[in-house]
Amino acid sequence: MHGFTLAIFKPHLLKNPVAYSAAEKFIDSCGIRIVTRKQLHLTESQAKQFYQAHEGKFFYKRLISLMTSGPLEVLILSGENVLTRWRELMGPTKVFKAVYSHPDCVRSLFGLSDTRNATHGSDSESSFLTEAALFFPNQKFPPDGDQ
Ligand code: ADP
Ligand code: MG
Repeated sequence: MHGFTLAIFKPHLLKNPVAYSAAEKFIDSCGIRIVTRKQLHLTESQAKQFYQAHEGKFFYKRLISLMTSGPLEVLILSGENVLTRWRELMGPTKVFKAVYSHPDCVRSLFGLSDTRNATHGSDSESSFLTEAALFFPNQKFPPDGDQ
């Protein structure tokens, strides 16, 4: 099924040009299309809104401080089963485990810690819609007339 997902290159990935371009190549080499992208520096309240489901968890504070630590890049990706495929390319959430179980995934290669795990990917169609509305409030995916 052709679809969409929202990816984020987290701030520490953007700071490393080698890792940044390698992450782009991961997307490219799998035939995933970048529909739109933008770089922005999240405010604390934007980061809290984006990660509201994790409020109260032990890693919440460090997650918000990572996401507000510098510019990040938000991308809308499209392709066959792209939501699942991008999650597969990213690999498991926890980098310290991923390096053993999935050595070739984006997070194993470019993650620095369980929090600084390089990238984000929507976990469901409904998360995608919520996240896309947050970052691209005036755009529709798919665009009108382009089913
Ligand atoms: P994912 O990004 O794989 O969807 P979650 O939605 O569970 O993972 O968590 C959101 C983000 O919170 C993760 O990408 C990571 O940055 C951070 N995080 C999740 N679990 C942990 C953990 N156990 N320790 C540190 N940071 C974590
Ligand atoms: Mg998640």
